[in-house]
Parts: sequence; structure tokens; C-alpha cells
Amino acid sequence: MTSRLNRLAVAFLATALATVGVTVANPAPASAAMTICYNTSQAGSYASVANQAASIWNNATVNLTLSANCGSNLRIYRITGGGSYAVRTSLGNGRVYIDTQQAAQYSVLRIMTHEIGHILGLPDNYNGNCALLMSGGSAGTSCTNAYPSTAEANRVSNLFAGTFSATDRSADVFRDSWPSVLTPVG
Ligand SMILES: [Zn+2]
Repeated sequence: MTSRLNRLAVAFLATALATVGVTVANPAPASAAMTICYNTSQAGSYASVANQAASIWNNATVNLTLSANCGSNLRIYRITGGGSYAVRTSLGNGRVYIDTQQAAQYSVLRIMTHEIGHILGLPDNYNGNCALLMSGGSAGTSCTNAYPSTAEANRVSNLFAGTFSATDRSADVFRDSWPSVLTPVG
């Protein structure tokens, strides 16, 4: 009885390993365009901002399409306190959190497109350049640019064509610095 169970276990394990082997040997074509369904049911008053940000990314890139409320590859949340951030579970999948306190000082559309940029594979680049979307809060509160640069947009297009390393597509958490601007006293 025991040996029969062992044989069954071995057979099951072999099948499981073979399945894994097949998956590794035959990855899905990376060139297929991806539809990223984003969900704004938790976005409150920022739902329309999310729609604007999706349009900006759709117009700037190829190989991907952000589409509203067809699923939940990307969930967008409106939060208060704790800072805006993005949780990328894999390229094109994850969660974006927009902090109302930061949105009161910075362009909320810029924050939204920036955070979605993380889900689309971009890292932060805090160099103070307002022409870049991924410079985020380093460009100051006067920077309202909500459009990715050509280089940023092309990088996303290339990522979704499967031409960059696994690092850009990996799971990651981006806790963003949109520093608060203190009102001078006196
Ligand atoms: Zn960021």
C-alpha cells in the first residue's frame, strides 16, 4: 500500500515537473499586444483622472492598451496620507494609490500618470527635470507635466514588445517622494 502511494506520488511529481518544463520551454509570445484592464471602483473622485492618464499612455505608446473597467489588472485607489505609491506585481499588473494630501499640492494628473508609469515598467528618475514624467515630485509643485517623454514612452512600448530585461518586468513597490511644501511661518 505504501509503495503504491509512493509510486503514485512519484508519477504525480514527474507530471508536475514535466508541466513546468513545458511552460519554461514554450513561453507565450512576448510580442502580443496586452490589454491592461484598470479598475476605478476604489478611485472615488480620481476615476476621471485615471481615465485621462490612461488616454495619455495609450496615445504615447504601442503594444499595450489601457481599458476601463473590463477587469482588474490594475486597481486604482484614492487614499489620504501615507504617500502615493505603486505596487507592480508584474508588468502591466498591480495597484496604484493616490494620496489626496499630495494631490492637493502637485498635479494629480501628473501623479496618476507617474504611478501608472511604474506599473508599465518605469523606475523613478528623480532628477528634477519637469520634461520627464518619472522625475515625479523632484520637479516641484509648479511642474504639471503629465506626459511621458519620448524616451519614457518608447521604453514602455519596447517593454511590452518584450525587448528589455526581466528586471523591468519584475514585481516591485515604488514608494514615491512628492515632498510636502511647508507654508512659511510669519
Ligand atoms: Zn515614482
